[in-house]
Parts: sequence; structure tokens; C-alpha cells
Amino acid sequence: MSDDVGRVEVDALVVGAGAAGMTAALVAALEGLDALLCEKSSQVGGTTASSMGTIWVPGTRQSREAGFADEIADARRYLDAVIGPALDNRREIYLATGPEVVDYLERRSEVKFTAYARHPDYLANRPGATTGGRPLSPLPFDGRRLGADFDLVRPPIGEFMALGGMMIGRDDIEPLSRPFSSPATFRALLSLLWRQAADRLRYRRGTRLVMGNALIARLLASLRRNGVPIWANAKLQELTVANGRVTGAVIAVDGKLRRVNVRRGVVLATGGFGGSVERLNDHVRPPLAHAVAFAGAAGDGARVAQTVGAALETDHAAPAFWTPVSETPWLDGGCGVFPHLSLDRAKPGLIAVNAAGRRFVDEAFSYHEFVNGMHRSHATVPTIPAWLVCDRDFIGKYGLGRIPPGWRNWRAFIASGYLIEAQSIDALAQKIKVDAAGLHDSVGRHNRFAETGEDQDFGKGSTEFDRHNGDPRQRPNPCLGRIATPPYYAMAVYPSTLGSSIGLKADADGRVLTAAGEPIPGLFVCGADMASIMRGHYPGPGITIGPAMVFAYRAAMALRATATAPASGAE
Ligand SMILES: Cc1cc2nc3c(=O)[nH]c(=O)nc-3n(C[C@H](O)[C@H](O)[C@H](O)COP(=O)(O)OP(=O)(O)OC[C@H]3O[C@@H](n4cnc5c(N)ncnc54)[C@H](O)[C@@H]3O)c2cc1C
Repeated sequence: MSDDVGRVEVDALVVGAGAAGMTAALVAALEGLDALLCEKSSQVGGTTASSMGTIWVPGTRQSREAGFADEIADARRYLDAVIGPALDNRREIYLATGPEVVDYLERRSEVKFTAYARHPDYLANRPGATTGGRPLSPLPFDGRRLGADFDLVRPPIGEFMALGGMMIGRDDIEPLSRPFSSPATFRALLSLLWRQAADRLRYRRGTRLVMGNALIARLLASLRRNGVPIWANAKLQELTVANGRVTGAVIAVDGKLRRVNVRRGVVLATGGFGGSVERLNDHVRPPLAHAVAFAGAAGDGARVAQTVGAALETDHAAPAFWTPVSETPWLDGGCGVFPHLSLDRAKPGLIAVNAAGRRFVDEAFSYHEFVNGMHRSHATVPTIPAWLVCDRDFIGKYGLGRIPPGWRNWRAFIASGYLIEAQSIDALAQKIKVDAAGLHDSVGRHNRFAETGEDQDFGKGSTEFDRHNGDPRQRPNPCLGRIATPPYYAMAVYPSTLGSSIGLKADADGRVLTAAGEPIPGLFVCGADMASIMRGHYPGPGITIGPAMVFAYRAAMALRATATAPASGAE
């Protein structure tokens, strides 16, 4: 990279430091290119840092080593069944390249994944679905290894941490909620608490990083090891073009404009527009009130690309990937959101109802399908918000939203209005203003299903995926239990997003395309900036970060293969 302060020249400029941009910059550097990574906020990580960090990549060595016999042909069959026929070759190339990318990163960097012991596909009754093997989880990472760079990693949303910044992974829930269930859980709890106490003496938050935070920390450590410069507070303003080719960009660094010239290309990885309610509501009906994705993911990449002729792909089943959220009041008077991903809805003894007090969906469905159910119901009966309804035993055992399992003092949550409490179902219906007869009837009918184990209305607990998130101790159906022990509780949930699905039209090497399908020379895209190959469907865990990293890799390889152009073209 040139030392010139006003003007910099590199092979590749990557814009946006989430999983996609960091992977693109890393692979570019590993392939011998001179790469620069620019991030508009003061920290790296974007939405990825708050995510589970799961990648859905069929047919990997890691999954075979974990004992799964996953065939690409089955994954293809599954995607065809969920999404329909592919409209371009990206799906096929994704399936073909995915295992290679996971191996490449494992071999050449700190980025390492392991297969979940079990994590079923979300539409588990479709042909080709598996009970596990496709989703991989990033290995936890010790943030202390980053030294001063630890502060550069964006923490996850506060709703995913406890005890002043301790990250809670899926495996930590059992020791935290039932520490005395076995000597091993008790030892695990002591180890977590000891580590957190030690961390808090030296760091602003816990350094035991898991999920998306571990992935970002691993990418950051790898970028540092390869000497890739990272500019924070560096926002892409506009692209520069000469003779029909993108030759660089103007970046506002700490408010001062700098020109970056590129010999090979610019990669857009600004995270789509899933963090901006305003941008989402250009496409989402009924409009959303909340976004869970990082606010910095505000559509900058697409906006800038469109000024140089890029096209958007918008014909998806849904413009974004959904999750239901509850509104969590903060002590300072603000409000956050808690995504109800997998911990509560599938457990036995909970139903979701609309304003008529009626169930409208299999509550154990994936977060995306649950919100699809809300939207369908809302077309005829108000279902925004929908209400999660359960009893005292349920919350004590499983928690609800922000309320952790095992927590006994719910007073603060009731006082803030997060949780509504009543001594009878009728009184609860009155408090949440849903039809009392409807709610009464729904609870009674559901309680009869709990006895027989068969939900005749919505099939809760009828698929592998439902049962995976239920409670295996519950018989005969791990997702069905009576709602019968007062007081009764309700919590409002609203539709929200994990990220956008529609985005820039691109080919399988991340080349940004015009409406006519022509590549724009020198312009690449990956991550949520690129239109999702899932086309607004949510087949399984990790279907956004998986493609983000695979197409980032492919874009970097395509950059390597791109002939260098004189950067002076940007003058
Ligand atoms: C709670 C939660 C859990 C999730 N779990 C998963 C999961 O397990 N698996 C999965 O596949 N998906 C998951 N998702 C979705 C997933 O996190 C996102 O789709 C994915 O992280 C997007 O990655 P990205 O690199 O494209 O964008 P991001 O990670 O959002 O990074 C984009 C970066 O670009 C920066 N940027 C924006 N504009 C500019 C600009 N003008 N100039 C410079 N920089 C800019 C942003 O500040 C940001 O840091 C989850 C989402 C949430 C909210």
C-alpha cells in the first residue's frame, strides 16, 4: 500500500468488516494481493458479531468427521424442495465450493469450525433434509489473544450477555439454569464464573468469545497475522469510475475524505440493509418497528453500487429474514429487542395467540416461519403483536425471552411491562386485550393436545426440528405441555429481521451485475449486500453467513485472477 496520505493505492479495497468483508480481505491477502479493509463504525463485526456464527455448508469434511453422511445431492434436493428451481448457477456453485472454503480457512488461518452434534434443517419434513452435519459452529476463541485489538471486536447485543459482559453460548445454558443437575454442570458453572470474575478485573467484558463473536475474533486475528490494514471509522462515500470500470472509492476517514485507487477491484460487504428500519420499510409490509441486525447495515453498498449501474434482485419470497422479538426495556429508559430464536417457543407449555385469542402457527417453527405465520394471520386478525402465553412452571423451567431459565424473581420484568401476569386466563386476556373466550378455548384445546401428544391444529412437535428445540424429558410430545399452574403470563412479540434477503444482483464470483446481466468491471459484492441465494426462504441455520463467506472467497479468487489496471484511471 502506498504511504501517500491523501491518496492510497491497493489491489483490492474491501468495504465493511463483517464475516463477508473480513473473509474477502483475508483470502485476498492469503492469495498475495494488497488488500485494504474499511469499516464505517469504530469496531469490526457488524451483525455477524451478534449472530450465532453458524454456517450452513453441506458436505464438509468436518461433518463427515463428526459422523454425518451428508451428500451434496441431498442438499441440492432439499434446497430445490424449499426454494424451488435455481434461477442462476450460484446455488450449484455454492454447494460445490462450500467444503473447499471451510478447509481452506482452517488450513491457512485461525478461522475454524466444528459440526454441531445435532442441528436439524428448519423444514425437516422436506425431501433431503438432515438432522445435522450441514451447520457448523465457529470454535470458541480466547479474546485475550488479541491483545489491544480485543476492544476492536464489536460485542454482541446486551440481550445475549450476562453478568456484565459474559457471552452465553448454547452449551452454557444448562450449567447456568440447572447448575445442580450433575457434578459436571456444577463444575462448568464454577469455571464460567471464575473466568468472568478474572476477566472483569482487566477487561470491559468477558474474553471467552463464542458464536459470531468468536468468528469475528478469529477473522481479525488472521487479518492481523497477514498484515492487512484495517481502517475503522472509514465510510464508503462513493465509487470512482473511469472508462466503464470501477477504479476506486472515496472514503470518509474520521470525517476526512480520502481517495483509494484499486488495481483490481472494490468489494462491497456493507451488510445489506437489515439494520435500518427505514430502508426495510421501503420493502416490508406491514411495516416493521424493529431491526435486530446491526444499525450500521443500512444499505450503503447497494445505494452506492446503483449509482454506477448495478441492479437489485427483489423477486424473493420475503425481502428479509425474519425473527420474532420482544421489546426489552432498559434501566436508562431506552428499549432493546430480544430475538426469540430457539430457546422458548418450542418448549412444552407455551402457545402463541392473535387478538382473537387463537393460535395461528406451530410455535416451534423456525423464527422465519413463525413470522411468516404472524404475517398470514395478521391479514385477517390483528397479530402484531402476537402474544406468547404460558404459566408459572414454564418460565421457572425454561425462561421466556430475556428472562433466563431458573430465574425466580420476575417482579422487575412485570413492573416494566415486559411480562404481563394474571391469576386466571380470563384476567390475562383482559390485560393483554385479546378475546377472552378465544384464549380460554385455545388453552383448553392445547392442554388436551398435551395429554395425547398430538397437536391436531398446527402439529407442534411433529418434526425433528420442533423436537430438537423441545424438552426431551417431556412425554409424550417434547413440545407440548399443559398450561395450568397460575399465575399465567403473556409476552408481546413483534416481527423483526436478522438481515436482508434482497440485494445486489451478482454472479457466482461476486461480480456485480447490471439489469441486463452484464458485470460491472472492478465491482464485487458478498454477504448481505448480495441478493441471497436462498431467495427469502430460510432452509436451515447458517444460511446467510455460509454464503457470505463462500462468495467472499470466490470474489477474492476472482480478484486474484483479474488483470491489474493502472490505478491512475481514477484521476
Ligand atoms: C441475533 C442474530 C443471530 C444470527 N445468527 C446467524 C447465524 O447463526 N448464521 C447465519 O448465517 N446468520 C445469522 N444471522 C444473520 C447474519 O448475522 C447476517 O446475515 C450476517 O452476519 C451478515 O454478514 P455481513 O458480513 O454481510 O454483514 P455485517 O456482519 O453486518 O457487516 C457489515 C459491516 O459493514 C459496515 N458498513 C456498512 N456501511 C458501510 C460503509 N458505507 N462503509 C464502510 N463500512 C460499512 C457495517 O458497519 C458492518 O460492520 C443472525 C443475525 C442476528 C441478528
